[in-house]
Amino acid sequence: MKALDELTFDNRFARLGDAFSAHVLPEPIDNPRLVVASPAALALLDLDPATAETEEFAQLFGGHKLWADAEPRAMVYSGHQFGGYTPQLGDGRGLLLGEVYNEAGEHWDLHLKGAGQTPFSRMGDGRAVLRSSIREFLASEALHALNIPSSRAACVIDSDTPVWREKQERAAMVLRLAPSHVRFGHFEYFYYTKRPEQQKQLGEHVLAMHFPECLEQPEPYLAMFREVVERNAELIAKWQAYGFCHGVMNTDNMSILGITFDFGPFAFLDDFDAHFICNHSDDQGRYSFSNQVPVGQWNLSALAQALTPFISVEALRQTLELYLPLFQAHYLDLMRRRFGFTTAEDDDQQLLESLLQLMQNSGVDYTLFFRRLGEQSPEQAVVRLRDDFVDIKGFDAWGERYVARVAREGDAGQEQRRARMHAVNPLYILRNYLAQKAIDAAEQGDYSEVRRLHTVLSKPFEEQPGMASYAERPPEWGKHLEISCSS
Ligand code: AMP
Ligand code: MG
Repeated sequence: MKALDELTFDNRFARLGDAFSAHVLPEPIDNPRLVVASPAALALLDLDPATAETEEFAQLFGGHKLWADAEPRAMVYSGHQFGGYTPQLGDGRGLLLGEVYNEAGEHWDLHLKGAGQTPFSRMGDGRAVLRSSIREFLASEALHALNIPSSRAACVIDSDTPVWREKQERAAMVLRLAPSHVRFGHFEYFYYTKRPEQQKQLGEHVLAMHFPECLEQPEPYLAMFREVVERNAELIAKWQAYGFCHGVMNTDNMSILGITFDFGPFAFLDDFDAHFICNHSDDQGRYSFSNQVPVGQWNLSALAQALTPFISVEALRQTLELYLPLFQAHYLDLMRRRFGFTTAEDDDQQLLESLLQLMQNSGVDYTLFFRRLGEQSPEQAVVRLRDDFVDIKGFDAWGERYVARVAREGDAGQEQRRARMHAVNPLYILRNYLAQKAIDAAEQGDYSEVRRLHTVLSKPFEEQPGMASYAERPPEWGKHLEISCSS
């Protein structure tokens, strides 16, 4: 374990130079104080969780203090936002403080979100409000606990600095960790500004730091692109399998590492709804739940376009074609596991689709359905679950097929089946209304609910004593909370 002043920096991205990022110091927030910290994320930096409670911690991550070896930089990138190209974006309210390497030899970017204005702030104030910082923190750590690749979050720091959105709110900062903060939009930026030298420098950096195995391939850039396609197919399969809706899949929010990145108006589904739009500002539903699958491919084609200086169009096209089949294979595999199947049958896809249709028509809670399916024997489970469906006859027919399908698995017993299913079907997810309750309390200065929710979500598959209220469907007020981009 290390003390805060013992972190070791190696700022590889900063060394790329001023064409890639600008030196900017964090602008401190008033009276910084800890809202919540993630012991598991701090451990990635070899930090003892107790350090989070110190004055120095709040000073560092509230922008008042900086390590001598940190080199805070705002990165430049661009990207396609809602389908249209924006020539310059960049870190408008976040800074890459530096890259830390831990005792295991891993590098972690320390990114302080809400750190004040930068040359890329455009009209923005460079700040993040408390509510969106709490949401990013909870989501990053919750996704990680669900085995869904994501950037991590080490802490949230609250303050007395006022910021204006629709109303006056408080500024906060969140410390985000990721092995890299390079986005699809980084490659787009150098491609569209016609700077092949820098684009090559960026490509070589990403290859060497994050895809070293691709350097052994005859065409390293193609191998890297293929890897990005594969990782995204798998990532989006996980989002779809667990009902995660990102909300703003612009190419500047897509990580080159294929991890969930840049949280805004995201949501986990309560009731299953393929057409769910979590972003209140997304009038056309471009980023609706089911559209995430084709949008993933659209985003990869935007990246492919930016990589045309390195890879032939034909090779890019062929690689892009891998996305959908890979997605489908991962998705079906995950859903089979959620059903408790260890074998594959041709009809499984159809069994799944007809269930989702029934759920859609009846507004069935997506998470609880699967949890309950494994709780009891298949015969008992379908009897318990049928009352949730409007089309009871339709569900009974489905239930019969499911029971017969489970029988062909030849399970040793219900105990074994339950354990297997509970290991992939969470009891607790980050429901919007749970986040909102925690945020309301935090805005009143009480951080205990954020901390409790974080603890519950860090073990989503394990039933925790006294926490039954975190595994319930939302109350009426919590069903359709409007979340927009103004964060
Ligand atoms: P986001 O929607 O958070 O992914 O942000 C899109 C772009 O707007 C990024 O370049 C952000 O840095 C920038 N941005 C968002 N909010 C602010 C803000 N309050 N101040 C400055 N820049 C911002
Ligand atoms: Mg963004």
